[in-house]
Amino acid sequence: MRSNDPFPFVIVPTNDDERFMLEALKQAWKAFLLGEVPVGAVLVREGRIISRGCNQVELLKDATAHAEILCITAGEAALDNWRLADTTLYCTLEPCAMCAGAMLLSRAPQLVWGAPDIRHGANGSWVNLFDKPHPTHTVAIRSGVLQEYCATLMKRFFQQRRDMNE
Ligand SMILES: [Zn+2]
Repeated sequence: MRSNDPFPFVIVPTNDDERFMLEALKQAWKAFLLGEVPVGAVLVREGRIISRGCNQVELLKDATAHAEILCITAGEAALDNWRLADTTLYCTLEPCAMCAGAMLLSRAPQLVWGAPDIRHGANGSWVNLFDKPHPTHTVAIRSGVLQEYCATLMKRFFQQRRDMNE
């Protein structure tokens, strides 16, 4: 693993969801190269990416430095508004409870995620924070976008970490 290793997949997107998930995957690859669990996110508004984030828990020594949180925070700064109206959050992994909560609080109306997270996923894998009707806010969700690639990156990371520990 070297910091200049090229993005490992050849992906030709067939729709907007895949196009933006590919950008989230590139963020996940950036995390991978930093030695972080490879999760990436981008925030899209009116067909344009307004912020990006990659997992930086190790680098920042901060358990809350998830890709989605960094992406949401940067998106709020870009819009100069904590309300992420008309946005779609793309993330390579099913968001955890913290990130799902941040999404609900920031009123982002759409979520697209790639691979399920059996341990921490808060859209059904572990808990589901989106399945109860909320008085002011609903999130439209699409899941499984480029799932195979998102999951492969995770598998590759944990395999490599196991190999290093053997
Ligand atoms: Zn999270």
